[in-house]
Amino acid sequence: MAKNIQAIRGMNDYLPGETAIWQRIESTLKNVLGSYGYSEIRLPIVEQTPLFKRAIGEVTDVVEKEMYTFDDRNGDSLTLRPEGTAGCVRAGIEHGLLYNQEQRLWYVGPMFRYERPQKGRYRQFHQLGVEVFGLQGPDIDAELIMLTARWWRELGIASHVALELNSIGSLEARATYRDALVAFLEQHKDKLDEDCLRRMYTNPLRVLDTKNQDIQTLLNDAPKLGDYLDDESREHFAGLCAFLDDAGIAYTVNQRLVRGLDYYNRTVFEWVTTSLGAQGTVCAGGRYDGLVEQLGGRATPAVGFAMGLERLVLLVQAVNPEFKAESVVDIYLVASGANTQSAAMQLGEQVRDALPGVRLMMNHGGGNFKKQFARADKWGARVALVLGESEIADGNVVVKDLRSGEQSTVTQDSVAAHLRALLG
Ligand code: ATP
Ligand code: MG
Repeated sequence: MAKNIQAIRGMNDYLPGETAIWQRIESTLKNVLGSYGYSEIRLPIVEQTPLFKRAIGEVTDVVEKEMYTFDDRNGDSLTLRPEGTAGCVRAGIEHGLLYNQEQRLWYVGPMFRYERPQKGRYRQFHQLGVEVFGLQGPDIDAELIMLTARWWRELGIASHVALELNSIGSLEARATYRDALVAFLEQHKDKLDEDCLRRMYTNPLRVLDTKNQDIQTLLNDAPKLGDYLDDESREHFAGLCAFLDDAGIAYTVNQRLVRGLDYYNRTVFEWVTTSLGAQGTVCAGGRYDGLVEQLGGRATPAVGFAMGLERLVLLVQAVNPEFKAESVVDIYLVASGANTQSAAMQLGEQVRDALPGVRLMMNHGGGNFKKQFARADKWGARVALVLGESEIADGNVVVKDLRSGEQSTVTQDSVAAHLRALLG
């Protein structure tokens, strides 16, 4: 017998038992986005490779070693998107959404990175991203953070995430800082590991978020990015902190917080948790005022973030098990006796017409009462409708409340009203 073909390593199936909690979490996230007036944008999963090279930067983990890149049949180099911002900016420029306009956008979907799969880190994973264009003040940076804080409250995880904040200044300020940092690193070359040595000249700021503890200790004496900020970035950051203080949102300023992607300036932030082990960053973002121009559009201020949904789902399951998915079914329709199936299916349609949004599952495949009621239980139904030959003959149906066990026989014409009262 042929060997079974299995899913690709790091690319998960999300089975029916899990999709319910995903849907509930996603609808909570989407409702909050709606309550701030943000609109969805849907983008392709594949883009031309140069888009990511230009947007993310050649010397980043993502571009250097994590992209799924291939030639299509024309010989064009294409890449499965490793993140959403580049495609969003590409679309905004292409459709003239950005210049001199305000856009508050969000998207959700799969992203692809060739990484070592482990808990909270996969090769296909899902992000919800938010991008705002055309607003340059710190008030909008603050709104994004307030929006995320509202998510945490609604998901019941607020006490398990912490906000880290930094400003990485303007491109120019960062260039000056980079020189100072490289000078410092050069003096301590012998203490750097291979990764940091490689980054030292190509992308020295990334040395700041090394996981190597000895190097972290060494960095205590390194020049501080905060001392190199330009006045405008400093003012912007003070403004952001004041908005957050007024909103009662706690944060820690982490001077070593830089971002893996090159296009950020000024504000960077991360929501982190200690409840998930090593993969602790749930949500990360910041301001990227230079990216639109870098990709060929007219200069447009922009700020955004991306949240990893697998990590969010893991966190909700770990710290707020109450936040369960609802059952799949409200009403289970039991049909018993010869030639009752078609009449029962018609009654099911009638109930669905009368009670939109109520979830009615029809029994299929026959079975005695006991079997059918066991199925009603399995799907978590609150009410069973029972239709047998005598009910059909009389135009009736039995309504059984599966919690209290009470049951009554009602006319089929009035069943929707009974169900409405029962289900509340
Ligand atoms: P990390 O340091 O964990 O690799 P990153 O800096 O590469 O994160 P971003 O590119 O900022 O991550 O992506 C934003 C968020 O997307 C992360 O904070 C995380 O929640 C999620 N994420 C990133 N890569 C993965 C992955 N391979 N699997 C699952 N979630 C991921
Ligand atoms: Mg990464």
